[in-house]
Amino acid sequence: MRYLRFVRDILAEAETEGEGEEQAEGEEIKVNSVRRRRVSRRATRSSAGVAPARVRAQAPAAQPPASIIDVHHHIAPPAYNQELIARGINEPPLLRWSVQKSLDDMDKAGVATAITSITTPGVWLGDNNAARRLARKCNDYAATLMRDHPGRFGVFASLPLPDLDGSLQEIGYAFDTLKADGVGLMTSFGDKWLGDPAFDPVMEELNRRKAVVYTHPTLADCCNRILPVVHRAVVEFQTDTSRAIGSVVFTGTAARYPDIRFIWSHGGGTMPFLYERFLRMPQLYPNVQANIPRGVEFELKKFYYDVAQVAHPAALASLAKVVPVSQILFGTDFPYRTSADHVKGVTEFFPDEGDRRKISRDNAVGLIARLK
Ligand SMILES: [Zn+2]
Repeated sequence: MRYLRFVRDILAEAETEGEGEEQAEGEEIKVNSVRRRRVSRRATRSSAGVAPARVRAQAPAAQPPASIIDVHHHIAPPAYNQELIARGINEPPLLRWSVQKSLDDMDKAGVATAITSITTPGVWLGDNNAARRLARKCNDYAATLMRDHPGRFGVFASLPLPDLDGSLQEIGYAFDTLKADGVGLMTSFGDKWLGDPAFDPVMEELNRRKAVVYTHPTLADCCNRILPVVHRAVVEFQTDTSRAIGSVVFTGTAARYPDIRFIWSHGGGTMPFLYERFLRMPQLYPNVQANIPRGVEFELKKFYYDVAQVAHPAALASLAKVVPVSQILFGTDFPYRTSADHVKGVTEFFPDEGDRRKISRDNAVGLIARLK
């Protein structure tokens, strides 16, 4: 009950503040704030005799310690922003990001720890040496955050894929020196998706280390500006995630490297909705059978999926039918969305407090023992 009261207070406060970027990942134009509408809704409730949010927020229940673990939380190290600016990539949420903004957003919603990552386009921007340098700078920055704010941050280290040698070096540095919690990979690099045999040496090493491999969608070469009127974050990112899931399963990467613990962003893209087509794929291409000895369903249910950008009933209903609660992780996509937004979505969809606790914390602790 204390947890429920705590969540209600968070929601009341979030509504009062009305803060949020309300911006698609990779979007360059800020969408208008809905703050004004929220204020007028609050006024309506107040006149109908319902206690306004501000009054409730003034007398909060005793709050349990923040406990939520966010596995989808982006940072924008200065070196990364400099690289984006130099390439003419305008990402206001990243340019405006600060450590304090991360902490403030986490504190508002009871997020104890955010495992940080670099979002699309990632660190490889066409040049191997530049990608190695940028990955190192980003990873050092993330590790410094983890050290300077004990318990508040973790690290999904960037790798300069598709540069294999550079990636293998960075894996060693990230895990052995920085004590990273896992690696963060884009779903595709140029015209190759995760699962491509070209990446096998890296997968082999990640498997040897039983690594957590957090993945994030990006724009593949094939699909850059194929439909400019629809922002790439709306359809293309989700589709790229589904492509990568299909590639990892049907190339046999998932079966050959069973100790890698994959996390797919945004509830697995469109995969949950395409679930039956995934299951029936071997009927269309019988030659993939040998790559999936334990079956498609086994592999899809073994992966982990975060709820960033999908903490709403339409998506969660589908995801929760595909995988058990044990495979679902809390994620926010900060600074593109807020933590409070996602606490609200998870709380409203999952009525069982035990389920919410697994999603919000326990499943992540199972993956990353350091967080216990
Ligand atoms: Zn993201």
